[in-house]
Amino acid sequence: MFQAVAGPEGADQRFSSGAITLAPGFAPFAETGFELQALLSAPSGGGEPIDKVWLAGLFDQLPAAVYLTDADGRISYFNPAAAAFAGREPRLGLDLWCVTERLFNQAGELMAHADGPMAQALREGRAIRNVELQAERPDGSRIRFLQNPTPLFDRFGRLVGGFNLLFELSGRDEARMPDMAEHAADCERLAFRRNLREAIESGAILLHYQPQFRPDGTVIGFEALARWRDPVRGVVSPATFIPAAEEGGLIAALGAHVLRSACREAASWAKPLRISVNLSPLEFQSDELPALVETILGETGLEAERLELEITEGVMVTDAVRAMTTLSRLRALGVRIALDDFGTGYSSLSYLHRFPLTTLKIDRSFVATLGVTLESAAITRAVIQLGHALGIEVVAEGVETPEQLDFLICEGCDLAQGYLLGRPLDASAYAHLTGG
Ligand code: C2E
Ligand code: MG
Ligand code: MG
Repeated sequence: MFQAVAGPEGADQRFSSGAITLAPGFAPFAETGFELQALLSAPSGGGEPIDKVWLAGLFDQLPAAVYLTDADGRISYFNPAAAAFAGREPRLGLDLWCVTERLFNQAGELMAHADGPMAQALREGRAIRNVELQAERPDGSRIRFLQNPTPLFDRFGRLVGGFNLLFELSGRDEARMPDMAEHAADCERLAFRRNLREAIESGAILLHYQPQFRPDGTVIGFEALARWRDPVRGVVSPATFIPAAEEGGLIAALGAHVLRSACREAASWAKPLRISVNLSPLEFQSDELPALVETILGETGLEAERLELEITEGVMVTDAVRAMTTLSRLRALGVRIALDDFGTGYSSLSYLHRFPLTTLKIDRSFVATLGVTLESAAITRAVIQLGHALGIEVVAEGVETPEQLDFLICEGCDLAQGYLLGRPLDASAYAHLTGG
């Protein structure tokens, strides 16, 4: 069953997920007398189920070719325009590709259907992304093939199918063709969020740990850094998926998973080392954060003093009063607070002594240019002195060379972290430091 905001009363119904609309390029449908604004629906959206028969009736009137797939990627429906492209009636279940005669990749090279990314993806049961093909109709004319089936979710947010559209490359509709790049980007964004949600729910977001050392070479603790290993995308950087999680309403679930995993891991170490966990600005703004931290500390048995939460300067500027309340509640639990990426944001000195911070992390951009620009050395020296004057511990991030480390040690920096000393790795790789 598909979702729609409006009920399936007539062919001129407007469909919308409420939250999501298709790219503006989908205007061609407006000409058909009804606006196919969005046939996809957000998993969280409400609304009545669409009558499949009615939906098929709607598609039948479309001048563009449409096919529907089920959640497994098998074609379950062709409209007459799709059948016309094929020059014959499609054989459902057999003819995954029957709407086209020949396929060309973006470079215009001929491809065997069986080698096409769509066919491969269907065989392997995975999604198709970011591929645009041209296909040849039986009469030799070319069409563009939107390779990203738009997902259809049921009311419980389960993937039940997808639909796809074929448009003529040339001819009367060219001026009104959808913007392929925009459509592909839209689809990719949705697919990305869906996969990210699945990864969070299935525990596929992993943590790597990067050690932090004192000048005498002893380890004081680790920073937990999130990693997403997606079967199709490979390792996705947190710099990409954290903002996507924020946009997609997934950050609370992700943040709680990271915090819980990091605390559980640290609690299992023989040595009582510290663990630093990054908080995104949105997570920090949640009123439930202090309670969540308290619950997780209770659940995992980690001593509060061993947990350090890393925030960035922006959170203190956006809503200083609220930030102060949250930080005070966290500090009251005994948790440490580090200011991450110091020097890259607003760097207002006034909040350094107003807010109950325990740690300043000098951004790696300054460390990287030590010995390259005089300013970096001056700024790094000043930050170390400032931190010490305020009774705040100073950590240098991104230490990559012995020269950088020497400089930092000479200037009295308390702690250092970086590839020179240890890369972010699976906890098992640091068993010799954690005591197992
Ligand atoms: P960050 O908290 O400033 O983390 C330090 C980043 O610098 C990490 O990138 C780390 O892998 C990298 N790094 C460490 N040492 C070196 C070095 O010597 N040279 C260079 N070039 N880089 C080094 P990563 O893991 O890609 O994380 C990027 C950012 O994503 C983090 O910056 C943090 O802001 C965010 N992030 C990571 N994990 C989480 C998480 O679990 N939750 C949240 N909210 N944000 C996270
Ligand atoms: Mg950090
Ligand atoms: Mg940082």
